[in-house]
Amino acid sequence: MAVWPKLAEQLKGRTAWVILCDFDGTLAPIVLRPEKARMPARTRQLLRRLLAHRGVFLGVISGRSLRDVRGRVGIPGLIYAGNHGFELAGRGLRFTHPAAIQHRSYLRKICRKLEKVVAGTHGSQVEWKDLTASVHWRGVKASERGALKRRLATVLAPEEAAGRLRLTRGLCVLEIRPPVDWGKGAVIDWLLDQGIFPKGSFLIFIGDDRTDEEAYRAVAREGGLTARVGPCAWRSRAQYQLRDPEEVQAWLQAVMRMLARSARQHKKEESDELVSRGD
Ligand SMILES: [Mg+2]
Repeated sequence: MAVWPKLAEQLKGRTAWVILCDFDGTLAPIVLRPEKARMPARTRQLLRRLLAHRGVFLGVISGRSLRDVRGRVGIPGLIYAGNHGFELAGRGLRFTHPAAIQHRSYLRKICRKLEKVVAGTHGSQVEWKDLTASVHWRGVKASERGALKRRLATVLAPEEAAGRLRLTRGLCVLEIRPPVDWGKGAVIDWLLDQGIFPKGSFLIFIGDDRTDEEAYRAVAREGGLTARVGPCAWRSRAQYQLRDPEEVQAWLQAVMRMLARSARQHKKEESDELVSRGD
């Protein structure tokens, strides 16, 4: 892949790397029912090994609830952001967006209404995620999707028009969020402001859905690297395209090799310096 020589160049001289990934469709293959999504054991092993490298920070930023994504990844020492960044925990940080707390009970109520709307449609599902909600329709027959979306709009459109909630659309999913401009990009900016990453850290973000686009923007602004997984129906901002979560795995492995090489190089330079000083 043409990315490697360029990436090797970008990584040269860096002593810290912040690798942020989305979960579904990026680390874990997409499945019909979201509760069945699993991260492959090999990916978990890779993430653990990456984390063991000095100067490597890892984070998972997902649309799932914080509790859910943390449980599915299950690696201590990572930064986890759930609900598209409305909540975050890890590396001594703890954050919940005030708007999410403020709108929680109202969104819960809307969610109950939506449960009734989808009740008759086989393959659709409303998921309450502690702070925000998702309506999934990956399992709904194509011929029934239009009618389902119209019924959902009857409940949601007036609420959205009144500014009481914000809707974002993903791959076979509708996200219902508090009415504030916040998401994966904003939480990355917030994270960078916390001062936990060394100055000059190299940023990487890998995602697959529309909600990841704002993360690409935030990371690109910092001179980082962005990659998108799977076929894309829109113009993505991501710099690189990966085929599937399996290729993400191969990619992370290659990044790890590169880090190991750069660490060896660094060590060699240090010892060469010692030797020359000894002369
Ligand atoms: Mg995803």
